[in-house]
Amino acid sequence: MQYNIYLFGAPGAGKGTQAQLLSEKLGIPQLSTGDMLRAARKEGSELGNRVASLMDSGQLVPDEIVIELVKQRLARPDHQSGVILDGFPRTIKQAEALDTMFSATGRSPLRVISIDVPFDEIRRRLSGRRWCSRCNRTFHVTDNPPRPGNGCEGGCQLEVRSDDTPEAVEKRLQAYSQQTAPLMEYYQRRGVLKTVHGLGPITEIFASLQASLAA
Ligand code: AMP
Repeated sequence: MQYNIYLFGAPGAGKGTQAQLLSEKLGIPQLSTGDMLRAARKEGSELGNRVASLMDSGQLVPDEIVIELVKQRLARPDHQSGVILDGFPRTIKQAEALDTMFSATGRSPLRVISIDVPFDEIRRRLSGRRWCSRCNRTFHVTDNPPRPGNGCEGGCQLEVRSDDTPEAVEKRLQAYSQQTAPLMEYYQRRGVLKTVHGLGPITEIFASLQASLAA
């Protein structure tokens, strides 16, 4: 069975963490446009340089850029048995482009799961978030500190992501409310949206996510 799953939610809702767990569990790749853009920046590519200031200030990068990245990634052989989308689509235009890609390639319909977390909790999470750019793992100073067995215990340097500053976080929440939240209705109308509560231990949220996929 081909699983195509889109984890929807505000920045800091836990999409990346849950997508990683789901990817390991189902054996299908996680496709994170945020990760792809950060990788482009790390390489110092022309694309990376073009998007750097938009990302750091908490704004979305242009639709055309992310749509092209996703199109190329979805065409790869290792993405044919399904995919877990994390952070894409984030605008109606991106969602429409994804629909076109899916129907052109005969993929199974997208299943959308929204991870619901109040903005105050998002602010608390993002202010304590730490990132290892080498292992691409995300931690939290109190909720999910790095420790043996969950990666990065090998002496990685943890950083505050450049877009986790308080100013950038407010901009990202604004971008989410204005440009991304309307996608809820878009997917609700198609009858493919389910919601899980995103508060509590990571393992419990993961259990709810799996239950909602099985339902
Ligand atoms: P994320 O890691 O998903 O929070 O993404 C980090 C940043 O990358 C966002 O704040 C945007 O600047 C950019 N980005 C990631 N995905 C998208 C997308 N689908 N559309 C536009 N910008 C994106």
